[in-house]
Amino acid sequence: MAHYGFLGLGIMGRAMAANLLKAGHKVTVWNRSVDKCAPLVELGATVGDTPRQITAECEITFAMLADPDAARAVCSGADGVAAGIGGGRGYVDMSTVDDLTAQEIAAAVTAAGGRFLEAPVSGTKKPAEDGTLIILAAGDESLYRDALPAFEIMGKMSPFLGAVGQGARMKLVVNMIMGGMLTAFGEGVALALESGLDGEKLLEVLANGALGNPMFASKGALLLKENYPTSFPLKHMQKDLRLALQLGDRLGQPLVTAATANEIFKRARAAGHADDDIAAVYTAIHEKKCK
Ligand code: NAP
Repeated sequence: MAHYGFLGLGIMGRAMAANLLKAGHKVTVWNRSVDKCAPLVELGATVGDTPRQITAECEITFAMLADPDAARAVCSGADGVAAGIGGGRGYVDMSTVDDLTAQEIAAAVTAAGGRFLEAPVSGTKKPAEDGTLIILAAGDESLYRDALPAFEIMGKMSPFLGAVGQGARMKLVVNMIMGGMLTAFGEGVALALESGLDGEKLLEVLANGALGNPMFASKGALLLKENYPTSFPLKHMQKDLRLALQLGDRLGQPLVTAATANEIFKRARAAGHADDDIAAVYTAIHEKKCK
């Protein structure tokens, strides 16, 4: 059995680290707020003092952190990932960040003698719990091969996409599509209800046609109840839209729909829904009637 490190025990990291433990691996965990380590300790994890200590001890350390600022903060500094890594040990950052951040972290890790792989994931809380994530790996191919047994526990599919940056780009494209779909869906639900249509019937009609998909089914139920228990925090989707738009700017690719979706997510965030589920973007749509 391997000895893995795991940094970042939020909604996703907690479930992913738990699956590594349940599969019988030794896991040393770290989280900025120490209290979040307790459920993993109950499953047999040990707690590391710093990211540096964990990357110095573990053959492969995984991370699942909020955003580019968090990913950089955990990698750098006297107690950071890069300070402990070396000897070809591996660092696999599974956080959703932009390609430039992934490349910056890769440079710091490899300069310190470690190997780096980015591996952002597609799939939310339930797939993380079920071990059915889609893992978008890119970077050091030898580390990819070494990390595959862990990926097979955490996910159902883990394609290797090439050089560092390609994983982040794939992830941002996927979430940009999702953000646009969710705002269009929210507008459809709002219009249907305003028109006197039955919301459940709308979901049924969508589910049985070409627009049927798991996201409309699961988020549709939340929209109709106007109840948003968090699987994917809305603030993280808005971050992903922002990062996708920045990528589009750099490449000169117009992204009109994504830019509009981003503004709607920003309104929901400003209205106090940052930590609610992405489905709460609906609040920024249906409360804004113009009559
Ligand atoms: P989350 O519950 O908000 O957890 C965020 C984690 O990042 C926590 O462990 C948090 O530590 C840590 N963190 C934040 N800022 C930090 C900093 N400056 N220094 C050190 N640690 C910091 O988020 P999540 O839903 O697990 O998502 C994690 C990542 O996966 C994000 O990039 C998100 O976009 C991506 N993702 C999420 C989903 C989803 O459905 N939830 C799906 C796919 C991808 P504290 O506990 O101390 O705050």
